[in-house]
Amino acid sequence: MVSREWNDIKPFESKVWLASPTMHGDELKYMTEAYETNWMSTVGKNINEVERITAEKIGVKYAVALSAGTAALHLAMKLAGIKPGDRVFCSDMTFDATVNPVVYEGGVPVFIDTERDTWNMDPVALEKAFEIYPEVKVVVVAHLYGTPGKVDEIKAVADKHGAIIVEDAAESFGATYKGAQTGTFGKFNCISFNGNKIITGSSGGMLLTDDLDAANKVRKWSTQARENAPWYQHEELGYNYRMSNVIAGVVRGQLPYLEEHRLQKKAIYERYKEGLKGLPVSMNPYDEENSEPNFWLSCMIIDKEAMCRQVRDEEKALYIGEHGKSCPTEILETLAKYNAEGRPIWKPMHMQPIYRMNGFVVRDGNGRARTNAYIEGGCVDVGMDIFERGLCLPSDNKMTPEEQDVIIEIIRRCFE
Ligand SMILES: *Cc1c(COP(=O)(O)O)cnc(C)c1O
Repeated sequence: MVSREWNDIKPFESKVWLASPTMHGDELKYMTEAYETNWMSTVGKNINEVERITAEKIGVKYAVALSAGTAALHLAMKLAGIKPGDRVFCSDMTFDATVNPVVYEGGVPVFIDTERDTWNMDPVALEKAFEIYPEVKVVVVAHLYGTPGKVDEIKAVADKHGAIIVEDAAESFGATYKGAQTGTFGKFNCISFNGNKIITGSSGGMLLTDDLDAANKVRKWSTQARENAPWYQHEELGYNYRMSNVIAGVVRGQLPYLEEHRLQKKAIYERYKEGLKGLPVSMNPYDEENSEPNFWLSCMIIDKEAMCRQVRDEEKALYIGEHGKSCPTEILETLAKYNAEGRPIWKPMHMQPIYRMNGFVVRDGNGRARTNAYIEGGCVDVGMDIFERGLCLPSDNKMTPEEQDVIIEIIRRCFE
């Protein structure tokens, strides 16, 4: 057993965050404008402007500002026409907000395993899923940690089987694939302005689409589905999902800094890549030829041979430290000791107790494989393998190069 604490490294005086809001001043200006003009509800100039600017930036015809990315995904599922009992193919290694909206509509998520090149939905497993469930009409695809997935391959499979794509670009605002922004590849797509995303409104999200009819429906549904009548007349189920004009003020102040944040995040990624050289680890990969991530979170994965023993149950993790080896639990606990915040990789949805009975399709095996434990050395379940060996590193825009060097040094020493 080794203890990872070193006298020559002092804990950070102020915490180094995984990803925290980075404000610039204009947010306050636009919020104040909303206050002073008394546009304090869900109508106003900030909302109009953020919708216009975002649609233009992403390259879609319509962007509808909503209270959260999750709300946008929920209305996307309604637009996609998901009915109770319908199976829907979903990214497996992602935040549960990608998937829950399917269930809000009574749909049944079937999880598609992850590939190793971008850590996103595996198009080979997707093709296999259509062989097993040919009736499926909707595919929900997330771009993990800001890295675009294999868009062309996934689209080709979905097109072949007559299914539409809902793109969850909540983490990848500003990332591009073959020159086009994520959020343009599906029929109904979403981004998020949640507090730890690359730019934030403190909360908020948007539905993106080129379909005018769909955009109008979302505007109506998100404001309680009022009909055009002098009184409150309702023919459809409504929701209170519209973005506030105050929140939109924060988003409006942040939007001009999206590219600056992206470049800062990229520099952080490159610095980790350089600093961790020589260790038995690699960074979260991306398709360098075709895509430009937004580098929202920098992640790393430990080589199989360099993993010390680590066991996770539903709530806790244990590990046995070993010279020359480490594991995500050891690195995360050690970073926390020094007042820096990392995070485990998203635990795959098919391993979540709430979704344990749902289908899960992998590229190898019989197509219905389900693993309830890590299969050592096996590639049956890529998502669980990345979850076991990977972690998200502190990726805050405000982290200084000096702070990052200390974090790199801490990681290095975890392998001593
Ligand atoms: C953040 C996030 C969401 C949800 O966004 P909110 O604005 O927090 O509701 C959805 N999917 C993914 C992958 C996310 O990371």
